[in-house]
Amino acid sequence: MPKKAYKININYAWCKRCGLCYWICPTKTLVEGELLYPKIDNEEKCIGCLLCENICPEMAIDIELKKGAEAIPES
Ligand code: SF4
Ligand code: SF4
Repeated sequence: MPKKAYKININYAWCKRCGLCYWICPTKTLVEGELLYPKIDNEEKCIGCLLCENICPEMAIDIELKKGAEAIPES
């Protein structure tokens, strides 16, 4: 089974550089980048928790399950 992998889409045009996304990211996939913009440190570390997507006040982040990656099993 392929490992779950996520694609992180950041719409920098909407980002207001509040820092919440990289503050909350538990795996430090997102880190503080230049001029306080979020930077993707290593997309492979993303666990798809959606904390960044949900906390962003500007809805500038979209986490997407990569095609071909294992879907989250239904319980
Ligand atoms: S989905 Fe979770 S692990 Fe992935 S970048 Fe966002 S906060 Fe970090
Ligand atoms: S939470 Fe949203 S607005 Fe704030 S720094 Fe992250 S992407 Fe930008």
